[in-house]
Amino acid sequence: MSPTGSPIKNKTSISARLLAWHRRHGRHDLPWQGTRDAYRIWVAEIMLQQTQVAAVIPYYARFLEHFPDIAALAAASQDEVLRLWSGLGYYSRARNLQRAAQLITEHHKGVFPRALGDITALPGIGRSTAAAIAAFAYGTRAAILDGNVKRVLARHFAVAGFPGGKRVEEGLWQLAEEQLPPRAIGRYTQALMDLGATLCTRAKPRCADCPLAQSCRALALAQVGNFPAPRPSRRVPTRAIHMLLLVRAGELLLEKRPSSGIWGGLWSLPELAERAGAKERCRAHYGCSIAAPQPLAPLAHGFTHFKLHIQPLLCRVQKLAPAAREPGQIWLSLEEAQGAAIPVPVRKLIGRLLAHRPAPGRGLAKRSE
Ligand code: SF4
Repeated sequence: MSPTGSPIKNKTSISARLLAWHRRHGRHDLPWQGTRDAYRIWVAEIMLQQTQVAAVIPYYARFLEHFPDIAALAAASQDEVLRLWSGLGYYSRARNLQRAAQLITEHHKGVFPRALGDITALPGIGRSTAAAIAAFAYGTRAAILDGNVKRVLARHFAVAGFPGGKRVEEGLWQLAEEQLPPRAIGRYTQALMDLGATLCTRAKPRCADCPLAQSCRALALAQVGNFPAPRPSRRVPTRAIHMLLLVRAGELLLEKRPSSGIWGGLWSLPELAERAGAKERCRAHYGCSIAAPQPLAPLAHGFTHFKLHIQPLLCRVQKLAPAAREPGQIWLSLEEAQGAAIPVPVRKLIGRLLAHRPAPGRGLAKRSE
């Protein structure tokens, strides 16, 4: 990590300029602002990880309506928590949120802890998220360093190297801490977040409107586009699976996934490595005799570490064994299945079935009596 070292022109601290800018141009009316309730702030911070503000707002309102406090979240069923999270993605966030609520109930008498060490000890809360919660809820003087802040600091101080690398990240933490103002820490934290989200954006930053422009090294070097350095390229492996859309009288079979791992605890479609085994799998696992599986248009879904290539197979059930309903399996109408806690690609596949189903009385739409 090497800030280029040239003198910075504007001697007013970053924090003073950010606070002044935020007063006039910052975001002041987001649903999770104007509260000191650590629970509400925590839920917002977790939802906002890797997710845009506009996408979070409706989920946030619904989640808090169902789980207004830590006790309600701790006592809820995991199914209900995942259902309300369904569509936001990164479901481990929801599972960790609930597990942390249970730990707070057990170890902190149901009150969100104040000490940073206690906050980071909770599942799903890293150093930056803990600092943000503590700054907003308790006014704790601690630095944040999320993706947006890394970008702002990397540009402003012309920090070379990929910010996800350990050495570069350590340098950025140090810079983040050095900028902290002596007070107004909550407003400063919000100002930094807002600058990264609205002005110092990844593409087309609005440097002409930026309160840090006079001292920004990347701007002075006319190299804003070169900071931060991109992640060193690596090949993302692809995994290919078949998903079975078992359809019977307008209903679809969903299967509960194991509680840990990808899509842990969500309802999903049965999966298969090879198309050839579909008939046998349906008979042995789901008690279904099916017609020849019909391949539908494939679907790709990206994860951080791999790409999933899904080949959906429509399997029309001809006969269902009477004692075939196992725990962890459920038959739902397509509409009910859409409303269940399901992964995004499964939602897309069901959406396609809904869009293409024939008129009532002619196949998929017909509901069993
Ligand atoms: S001047 Fe431009 S690059 Fe520098 S911090 Fe502001 S918006 Fe970002």
